[in-house]
Amino acid sequence: MIEGYIRDVPDFPKPGILFKDITPLLSDPVGLAKSIDLLAEVVDPASYDLVCGIESRGFIFGTALANKIGKGFIPIRKPGKLPWKTASESYELEYGTDTIEIHVDAVNETVKRVLVVDDLLATGGTMEAALKLVRKIGGDPVACAVVIELGFLPGREKLGDIPVHALVRV
Ligand code: AMP
Repeated sequence: MIEGYIRDVPDFPKPGILFKDITPLLSDPVGLAKSIDLLAEVVDPASYDLVCGIESRGFIFGTALANKIGKGFIPIRKPGKLPWKTASESYELEYGTDTIEIHVDAVNETVKRVLVVDDLLATGGTMEAALKLVRKIGGDPVACAVVIELGFLPGREKLGDIPVHALVRV
């Protein structure tokens, strides 16, 4: 069902990449509602306290999910965007490295079980760094949820024991 709303764009942002465009899913009220409903079903909301989204498409799904289930949302952002004290984590890209950041007080002793949300899991490098960041600030990542998983890449193997839930596996 969700698959039908995802547009494949060849050679974006560079030759050889098949980009999974989620904008048709977002612009369709049925597709959007269905994707958020499914995210609320794939991981029991009783198992986590907060939803964490990875910039920037993880914000869209993560915030909508958090609102639907009555929980708070915390952002993981690109460097230099968060105004308060941050923890950061760098990870390898095909060429070079990337860094992501989180506010150090995004979790606390009583509100710390986190579901990490992004639009897509590819190599798993971004999600692995996000899980490390959550742990760095004292959080307990309980699971990851993504709309799309590129099943031909070993992304989930990078994430150890943390369960990964994907609405669509391609
Ligand atoms: P990775 O760290 O390799 O798992 O890449 C995941 C991140 O890159 C996610 O935030 C995605 O939004 C983005 N991404 C990677 N590959 C694609 C793709 N083929 N189509 C759309 N987004 C992608």
